[in-house]
Amino acid sequence: MNHFWPFVGIDLTAGRRPSDIAALSDGGREVAYRRAGSDEEILATLRVLGGRFVAIDSPMGLPAGLCCLEETCVCEPLTGRVGRSAERALAARGIPCFWTTKRSIIKLMVYRAIALKARLEGEGYTVLEVFPYAVKRVLLGRHLPRKDRPAGIARLIDGARTLLPACRWPEDWGPGHDQLDALYCAITALLHALGRTESLGDDDEVPIVVPRADAHIDAERFIGRAV
Ligand SMILES: [Zn+2]
Repeated sequence: MNHFWPFVGIDLTAGRRPSDIAALSDGGREVAYRRAGSDEEILATLRVLGGRFVAIDSPMGLPAGLCCLEETCVCEPLTGRVGRSAERALAARGIPCFWTTKRSIIKLMVYRAIALKARLEGEGYTVLEVFPYAVKRVLLGRHLPRKDRPAGIARLIDGARTLLPACRWPEDWGPGHDQLDALYCAITALLHALGRTESLGDDDEVPIVVPRADAHIDAERFIGRAV
């Protein structure tokens, strides 16, 4: 039995309901699932897991020029364009994502994520912003059934088994799509530690980390080996 799960993915919420957490051991041989409510619970969970790389499914930065997402504030994006450079880079690759603007419907989650990132980095964690849909598009291809339908969940489970051939999956493994989003964040954290990711967008707006396009080609060779 493993005692450390350094590669952690968090499907963050705005805080009213718990966030799903998935974590992979060295080499991706074991997976652990947790749920955590408050930021304190997330930090406590990371300590227990022995997390080092923490990939979070939420925007964790604002477009340059914005100090907040309040329509009552006079701050404006420096570029005059919609969203962050990372979001525009994804869109340019044909991967739709949510724009971080003052009209965002996930404003509370973004504020939470910005504060959480600072806190985690202060404690020494490497924190990555990850958009699981982009991860799945890069690793599994363009044609994905909807993630909240049985066929979509089956495709994501099958994809995870292929990407992590050495992983010992739990008996009766029946994850929901939030757990799977956390797992694909954790997979990205593992790929990042292996140097198999790229960062989209400007550093001052917080980049979005995605697997490199060739990451899936030799996935079976490099995932499953101790790092
Ligand atoms: Zn402002």
